[in-house]
Amino acid sequence: MILLGRWVVPVSSPYFENGAVVVEQDKILDFGPSATIQAKYRQHQIRSYPDAAILPGFVNVHTHLELTVLRGYLENLPFWNWIQKLTRTKYQVLTYDELVVSALLGAVEAIRAGITTVADPMDLGASLEAVLTSGLRAVLYQECFSPKEEEADQVLERLQRKVEELKEKVNRWPEDALFPATDQSSSTTPSDTERPHTRLTLGVSPHAPYTVSRSLFQKVHTYARTQKIPVCIHAAESRAEIQLLEKGLGPIMQSYRTRGVDWQPPECSPVQYLHRLGVITDSTLLVHCVHLTDHDYKLIESEKASVAHCPKSNWKLGHGYMNLKAMRQRQIRLGLGTDSVASNNNMDLFEEMRFALFNPSWLEATPAGSGMKASILAFGAEDALRLATLGGAEALGMSSKIGSIEISKQADLVAIDLSQPHTLPVFSPVTALVLSARASDVRMTMVGGELLLEEGKMQRVSEPMLCRAVEKIREKMLNAPG
Ligand SMILES: [Zn+2]
Repeated sequence: MILLGRWVVPVSSPYFENGAVVVEQDKILDFGPSATIQAKYRQHQIRSYPDAAILPGFVNVHTHLELTVLRGYLENLPFWNWIQKLTRTKYQVLTYDELVVSALLGAVEAIRAGITTVADPMDLGASLEAVLTSGLRAVLYQECFSPKEEEADQVLERLQRKVEELKEKVNRWPEDALFPATDQSSSTTPSDTERPHTRLTLGVSPHAPYTVSRSLFQKVHTYARTQKIPVCIHAAESRAEIQLLEKGLGPIMQSYRTRGVDWQPPECSPVQYLHRLGVITDSTLLVHCVHLTDHDYKLIESEKASVAHCPKSNWKLGHGYMNLKAMRQRQIRLGLGTDSVASNNNMDLFEEMRFALFNPSWLEATPAGSGMKASILAFGAEDALRLATLGGAEALGMSSKIGSIEISKQADLVAIDLSQPHTLPVFSPVTALVLSARASDVRMTMVGGELLLEEGKMQRVSEPMLCRAVEKIREKMLNAPG
């Protein structure tokens, strides 16, 4: 198949006008000027996007698909009450089947927004169903929680069991799928070598320093090393977390007391604490990293860990902002994440790119009067686009496979319409994409050579059926006790 675009933006090389990308089975076979490509590949079927830029799909390095139905449900709560209401709703209000609907809603939103890969910590396993049903590429981390030292063995055992169950479910797929897939046309069926479950990587997530005990962190770390699976940890997100670790004070400490959790503060930052425990490695993805010391950046860099930057979620929940300038001055693998829509409230990496571009750290320590210019030189539209694509792929250790348009990489591609009034005139497609475009401008989303969104239509998921199911869940949540 040949995809023709007004522009092709490979990310790892300069963009060009009137371009073409050749897709064969699940991979990119070639790309270049459309005239050359069409002359060279005469037998290939052509799909044309005359008003669009074709680029690699976005890599969203932090989502919580299971929580999508909590969009707009947890507004105006202090962080600790926010997380308590979220937990209560997840465990006491929603059923597993409803969480699958929730996760699938998130997957559909992602595909419509041009996101082709998500990195998603999940608690109840519903994200697995959603990515297998929708066709998204994903790293799914099975979460575990328990701040009580004495529970570590039991929680680890449960985690290992859950990971095994997830593997079995993948092998059985689609035998016990809850949500029926719509018919796929033969032209978009993936090749035998790239069945949907090969787009999936399983990992684990000991949730955060304030929800996981020292022993549990270390046991999960040993398990992940033995299994050679990636790890995701939320770290240095809120001031409450810093208070707990540095001084043993604040709302989390109060909650520990009522729950009988024995906690001795390590009297250091979350990153130093995790480092002392020996759980930061080159397969650790640290999420948020809003409150870091100078030493923390050095530790992350020396251990070759990667970081998920979730700028909009951090602002909305009142945590502040990651010092993107300090982060970028180090050799730290960094990607962009939306976080759950319970804290965002949408999954749109265009908005996250703009938040990254407007990160206050770019204006810090620039000579007076040169603020805007200096900040754009330090981090411009091309940097933001790279962060949302190849940067994310690097953060997930997948940059040899995805994140840019290069020969023999996976055909994870999107076409984004730049002919709408809010994007015209287009002097540079990169500037238009990063500073003017929106998720709703995405016309086509392809993962591993399979069209998941084409001509405004989801190819695998019946959206009317999904939306009806979501509406039922809304009614149930409205009637749930406070
Ligand atoms: Zn998170």
